Amino acid sequence: MTLQVPVTTTDFSSLPLKPAMLANLKTLGYREMTPIQAASLPVILKPQDLIAQAKTGSGKTAAFGIGLLARLNVRHFQVQALVLCPTRELADQVGKEIRRLARFTHNVKVLTLCGGMPLGPQIGSLEHGAHIVVGTPGRIMEHLRKGTLSLSSLKTLVLDEADRMLDMGFLDSINTIIEQAPSDRQTLLFSATYSDGIRRISGSIQSNPVAITVESHH
Ligand code: ADP
Ligand code: MG
Repeated sequence: MTLQVPVTTTDFSSLPLKPAMLANLKTLGYREMTPIQAASLPVILKPQDLIAQAKTGSGKTAAFGIGLLARLNVRHFQVQALVLCPTRELADQVGKEIRRLARFTHNVKVLTLCGGMPLGPQIGSLEHGAHIVVGTPGRIMEHLRKGTLSLSSLKTLVLDEADRMLDMGFLDSINTIIEQAPSDRQTLLFSATYSDGIRRISGSIQSNPVAITVESHH
């Protein structure tokens, strides 16, 4: 693991982002990068694997959301990014934030797939296609088993709140999901804590990840 160099700027326009994305960030009121965004976005956009630790409310969703949108080819109507979240509530929030970030990027289709919701409508939506899928590990695995979701075009895999997913017993599901993703994908791992479990899963699913820790100053 390599450690990130110190951050020199918090200006979004210092990043290699499309003008439409920069304009959208302004309309969202994102005037400058939060510390985790400033530290992680140069790594994410390279693109390199990343393991990032930062407290809740620090803007991690936009960090990986901006990154996966930058890699997206909208004309290629396949699932290119998958974000795994521990709960339906978190997946819904992440899905909404990615839709906001994608507002000025035309025709980006984001699907949220979680348990506790009927399968039929989800299968129908998947038949229409999507660029980005956000979901909980159990339901994503179910769609993979049924053959209603394919990860063969995946470019970016995000584990959000990875420590919580491990605590909830999702390790096997996550491994099963990753077996179906291309090995040359980018893998971004976000966690509030840096446990042995997190280190182990990083070692097994990431390649040469850059590790970033942003301390709270409050
Ligand atoms: P985390 O996942 O780290 O807990 P979130 O991604 O949910 O945090 O972000 C927390 C809040 O900060 C959200 O309301 C989001 O819209 C806002 N936010 C994210 N990035 C910025 C930014 N650069 N400037 C201002 N607000 C931001
Ligand atoms: Mg979050």
